[in-house]
Amino acid sequence: VLRLEAVRKSFGGHLVLRDVELAVPAHSVTALIGASGSGKSTLMRCANLLEEIDDGAIFLDGEEITDPRADQDGVRRRIGVVFQAYNLFPHMTVLDNITLAPRRVHGVGRVEAEDRARELLDRLGLAAKAGEYPDRLSGGQQQRVAIVRALATGPRLLLLDEITAALDPELVGEVLAVVRDLKEQGMTMVLSTHEMGFAREVADQVCFLDNGAVLEQGPPEQVFGDPRQDRTRRFLSRIV
Ligand code: ATP
Ligand code: MG
Repeated sequence: VLRLEAVRKSFGGHLVLRDVELAVPAHSVTALIGASGSGKSTLMRCANLLEEIDDGAIFLDGEEITDPRADQDGVRRRIGVVFQAYNLFPHMTVLDNITLAPRRVHGVGRVEAEDRARELLDRLGLAAKAGEYPDRLSGGQQQRVAIVRALATGPRLLLLDEITAALDPELVGEVLAVVRDLKEQGMTMVLSTHEMGFAREVADQVCFLDNGAVLEQGPPEQVFGDPRQDRTRRFLSRIV
């Protein structure tokens, strides 16, 4: 679904992604792990065209999306994104948050957009919250609504950037359960997380970023159980 080829990105002379190669097959879950500042968020922002890459190429379903002629709105419709926190517009109800992009950006009619939103809310156990404002929801509920919003355009791929990092520990579980469900339904996902137990459980492949370079990549059993690189070993021993 998603492929990065020799992707390079720097901010003001500081190289943040160093020739990153990554292939995300359909219906798979890829976990990005690595220390703070290793480039996980930047990688996802580049994949969603929120940042322009300096070199290399990114492909979505075989189409080069980093080609200047690519249809950026189309790309964003096919890639859903959820960030760490503060995702929702506070002055809009849950339903309006979810239907905003489909209606405004993608020209879907109100009835159709709301039907789809209600169906997704129902699936995530949030049917009763459609008319609420975000500040009336718990952090976990807000993140689940943010996931619904990311799903509302029917994306091919979800990018989830530390979606549990800002949550109280007791709320982490309900958000991770949603990720588990989406995996079961065959959703293709790339997620960054500091929750190694979860990465190990849910990921089909784990990608360890170190200072902007993919240092190690493989199935979780290998990366966590038998890392090839000393640096991976050291990173894991520090945080587990
Ligand atoms: P964390 O685990 O803390 O979220 P990360 O792996 O997501 O870290 P990034 O946010 O991708 O790391 O940052 C990688 C590097 O790029 C850091 O050194 C950061 O300071 C730098 N960086 C990120 N965004 C920008 C920006 N807009 N301008 C300048 N530097 C940036
Ligand atoms: Mg980050």
